[in-house]
Amino acid sequence: MTENSGLKILLVEDEQAIRDMVSFTLVRAGFQVFEAEDTRVALEMISSASPDLILLDWMLPGISGVDFAARLRREEPTSKLPIIMLTARSEEENKLRGFEVGTDDYITKPFSTQELIARIKAVLRRAGVESSEEVVEIDGLSLDTAGHRLNINGGAVKLGPTEFRLLHFFMTHAERVYSRDQLLDQVWGNQVYIEDRTVDVHIRRLRKALAPFGYDRHVQTVRGSGYRFSRHV
Ligand code: CA
Repeated sequence: MTENSGLKILLVEDEQAIRDMVSFTLVRAGFQVFEAEDTRVALEMISSASPDLILLDWMLPGISGVDFAARLRREEPTSKLPIIMLTARSEEENKLRGFEVGTDDYITKPFSTQELIARIKAVLRRAGVESSEEVVEIDGLSLDTAGHRLNINGGAVKLGPTEFRLLHFFMTHAERVYSRDQLLDQVWGNQVYIEDRTVDVHIRRLRKALAPFGYDRHVQTVRGSGYRFSRHV
């Protein structure tokens, strides 16, 4: 297992030779790679594979990479999905256009393997995406994702499955504020019949389970916005 294992990257590139080369590099670095030769396939893969990051070629047949990026940014489920543009052109205006539509970074072909991996890691880090390690640990709180167990200061603590998923999401996305809607999307998935208030119920249960150990203070209410898991209490 490498540090990147479990992280999913969608590579959208029409040139097979470049796809093969980049894909090989990413797989060797421990990423799980999905390939799309055009934006239609890319859209299918975004919904079926839920990638953590998209590597998007600038020049694609049909809709261009940058227009596709703009579209992903406009649509709620993908508005925060990290995107790195691959461009053969290094002109200043292209970079600016990419940043205008909200891509996270760009990389100019030809690029080195190390450069590509470094850029991807930097963007993922900024986006708060972390590798799905078996054990997630913050300040004495330890989640064993394989065994679905929570340990606090070495002792096992009982947690319902929803509270477990909620805490796992929080611990892997610490310090960022999420609205109830975003938490529903991220933790419950596409179960549209669930109400916003459900989030509050499970937050309460989670805090109750953590309270005897003083960790409930990490689960913070941000007035008017939602909730945040913070290391700073
Ligand atoms: Ca191309």
